[in-house]
Amino acid sequence: MGQQTKYIFVTGGVTSSLGKGIISASLAKLLQGRGYSVTIQKLDPYINIDPGTLNPYEHGECFVTEDGAETDLDLGHYERFLNIRTSQANNITTGRIYQNVINKERRGDYLGKTVQVIPHITDEIKRCVQILGNEYDYDFVITEIGGTVGDIESLPYVEAVRQLKWELGRDCLVVHLTLVPFLAAAGELKTKPTQHSVKQLLELGVQPDVLVCRTEHHLNEELRLKVAKFCNVANNAVIESIDADSIYDVPMLMEKEELDKVVLEKLGLSAEGKADLDKWRAFVKRHKETDTSVKIGLVGKYTELKDAYKSIVEALIHAGAETDVHVDIKWIHSEGIHAGNVEKRLGDLGGLLVAPGFGERGIEGKIEAIRYARENALPFLGICLGMQCAVIEFARNVAGLKGAHTTEIVPDAEHPVIALMDHQKTVKAKGGTMRLGAYTCEIKPSSLAEKVYGAQLISERHRHRFEFNNAYKEEFEKAGMTAGGINPDSGLVEIVEIADHPWFMGVQFHPEYKSTVANPHPLFIGFVNAAVTVRDKSPELSR
Ligand code: GLN
Repeated sequence: MGQQTKYIFVTGGVTSSLGKGIISASLAKLLQGRGYSVTIQKLDPYINIDPGTLNPYEHGECFVTEDGAETDLDLGHYERFLNIRTSQANNITTGRIYQNVINKERRGDYLGKTVQVIPHITDEIKRCVQILGNEYDYDFVITEIGGTVGDIESLPYVEAVRQLKWELGRDCLVVHLTLVPFLAAAGELKTKPTQHSVKQLLELGVQPDVLVCRTEHHLNEELRLKVAKFCNVANNAVIESIDADSIYDVPMLMEKEELDKVVLEKLGLSAEGKADLDKWRAFVKRHKETDTSVKIGLVGKYTELKDAYKSIVEALIHAGAETDVHVDIKWIHSEGIHAGNVEKRLGDLGGLLVAPGFGERGIEGKIEAIRYARENALPFLGICLGMQCAVIEFARNVAGLKGAHTTEIVPDAEHPVIALMDHQKTVKAKGGTMRLGAYTCEIKPSSLAEKVYGAQLISERHRHRFEFNNAYKEEFEKAGMTAGGINPDSGLVEIVEIADHPWFMGVQFHPEYKSTVANPHPLFIGFVNAAVTVRDKSPELSR
């Protein structure tokens, strides 16, 4: 809209896990629905340069952007809600801020000066926030500050917000998300934690403009007025964020609370009219109102930790809404699967998805599950390590290559059907050194991939070091496993298929990163459709 970029900060108080990412994405959706260009950024106050080296137990899924940045899973929400692409600039950690400052110091940029948290670290934070407004010209940059206000590690971020608020005046606004707990014994909602959290922000020099209060029960007028009075915010700037059935309800809930209106008014923009959420609402309706379901088994080694497979779960939801079916995910731990129980564990499924992963734990269970899917015409989608396991399974049980394995686990495997990519052989450092980000893939004519994508050339995102070993390609093709897609520059096999199976596909890339509400991914749609067909053929699988 050609206006001066407006900066909105979203901070969190009282406790973590209040859903800052979803609130940020929902506010962004409402502003986007009013015709503004919006992006969202996450600042994470930990020392790792990025979450790429973090165990999923620490940090859930690592989301990969088109430009190959390994980022926080909230960026996945931003892309799915807004149907935009994020980049390295959308996720900054304390580690990266310090690395940039230290690099500048070594270059001599600060010659003669003592390099300090204030102003050097805070200036670097401010620069990273404003890059999105200055270089990409968004109408709104929403910056979510990870962690909780009051944490030592968040202090430089809050200080940067304080300075920017001062410098940008009406072009800057702070939304603070807090918790209003319900004390069952007293039968009451309590505002004190919110008051304390705002006080903590005030001590750091930041007056929040809008308070979003996460709650299990509706806030009454009296309580809203009390919060407004104690926290110096306008009465209409106390916004309720009630627990929702689905994250996809939150934009509508925030619209009802007029979060977008309050924000626009405070930033001096017209709040007339409403956000156009028609397509969004239609999606939510299809997602919720279907009365048929299909069971998809998701085999992985972090099944107790659903966040580790966030984008896969969301991509299945998008595909389910698109095909008017509820996707019922059955979480199956790969470690517990063996030949003796595989039928029992997978017999009730319409489709099997084997997840990405690293390392040895649970890999034989994954291979056993894939054998069952291949032998029983069960639709199969293998992603990254899931694809690699499908190759190993086929090698061992169909192509007669008994000692087949990936060199990730058995470096001197007799048949290294999955092996380290050439350019990975000299790589020693772990951080940011995988094959990352978007690569093109040429689809083989008349393949299942062509049917599913309806295209000859696709682009998908990657995150791996190992790859199908082309020395075995001919042998595989003769035995019935073919390459459905190949990277045109490197010749790497990106998709494997079995023609003699109703729907069997292993993909080296991560299609889940590209599925959005507005653009559900064709591969997930194809997979869910295939699963529905299986379910329809076997009445005992229907609900
Ligand atoms: N560990 C495998 C590799 O590095 C697969 C990675 C993944 O599933 N993301 O190639």
